[in-house]
Amino acid sequence: MTKLFTTYKRWPITLVDGQDWHVTDSTGKTYVDLSSGIGVMSLGYHYPAVQDAVEKQVQHIWHNTNLYQSPGEEKVASLLINGLNLPDDYLAFFGNSGTEANEAALKLARRYTGKTRMLNFAGGFHGRTYGSLTVTPIPDIQQGFGVDTSGVKTAKFNDPAAIDELDASFAALIIEAVQGEGGVIPADKAWLQVLCARAHELGVLVIVDEVQSGIGRTGSLFAFQQYGIEPDIITSAKALASGLPVGAMIGKAKLGSAFPYGAHGTTFGGNPIVMASATAVLQSLTPELLEHVQTVGKAAMTELATWTALPAVTEVRGRGLMIGIELSADLDVATVVQQLQEQGLLTLTAKHNTLRLLPPLIISEEALLDALAIIKGVLVADSKQ
Ligand SMILES: *Cc1c(COP(=O)(O)O)cnc(C)c1O
Repeated sequence: MTKLFTTYKRWPITLVDGQDWHVTDSTGKTYVDLSSGIGVMSLGYHYPAVQDAVEKQVQHIWHNTNLYQSPGEEKVASLLINGLNLPDDYLAFFGNSGTEANEAALKLARRYTGKTRMLNFAGGFHGRTYGSLTVTPIPDIQQGFGVDTSGVKTAKFNDPAAIDELDASFAALIIEAVQGEGGVIPADKAWLQVLCARAHELGVLVIVDEVQSGIGRTGSLFAFQQYGIEPDIITSAKALASGLPVGAMIGKAKLGSAFPYGAHGTTFGGNPIVMASATAVLQSLTPELLEHVQTVGKAAMTELATWTALPAVTEVRGRGLMIGIELSADLDVATVVQQLQEQGLLTLTAKHNTLRLLPPLIISEEALLDALAIIKGVLVADSKQ
């Protein structure tokens, strides 16, 4: 009998090891991992540069409170900020998860603007601690916790009317450039540009949640970089330290006046082992690897574009290696995920009956296309029943 709270519905599989984009369970069965955990193991398993960096740091100090200098955090902050390729100066704060990165962002935005209202978007997901939860407009997740959403207005994603919902009373808007849990839905480029321009005019800060879409997932360090926008605050987590717990909040340097000594903090944030891993991850995200993500992503989307002719598929969406296959209503995506496990593939679901694929970025084009052929076989067989 489990001694764990039943917050997770767990598949009856115990994963014990992995190599590149393969994982092995306790019975010795191997799977192609098209999920990277949940978008975490983006460099795959036992990626040499990450493995080496972590093993080296384990020989030295494991914990370095934020009372002392933190060269690891400085290094990761520089890599992230240089990688933004934006004209403004930015600063970083490190926590231990995506929701913590968003908490830091919401707190910074409130304290800097002196305002409290937030604009969020239907289908968005920003985390499960109270602050992030108030801007995660999913009834099943908010229900029963007494979440105070009185200061939150929810607009429709990709809807021109959302721009008119903005006014100067908001501290910030929070948005994913590509919604992940919401069904792998990329923002419309022109819409996002106008939204951000309007926010800047009104003195409303723009928080872009890149917890899932960042760290190379869509073919650039962050997805927003394909949109020509300049966020005030960017949050990152999932893939940043290749499986070690981390969250990063990167904000314009001018916002720093709202985070003086003592205004925010965390015991574990910036852990040296985690920062060693994140440094190796960011140094491994070379232009060549990002180009690989774009090439393999394009090959996948070219194949998937033909699937909309299948009765099982209503739409395919994605950017880079963040891929969503929306299934027709007569198929149950959870059943499909289970059938794919039997066939040796690990996949994810998302809103709108969407089969979500977040394969390790290092996956070969051949391996991904082979996996897609298996998925297609299952979908075709299912819609014949
Ligand atoms: C996963 C996710 C979060 C929450 O991250 P945790 O590490 O689970 O707290 C926030 N935003 C987005 C877009 C995510 O995908």
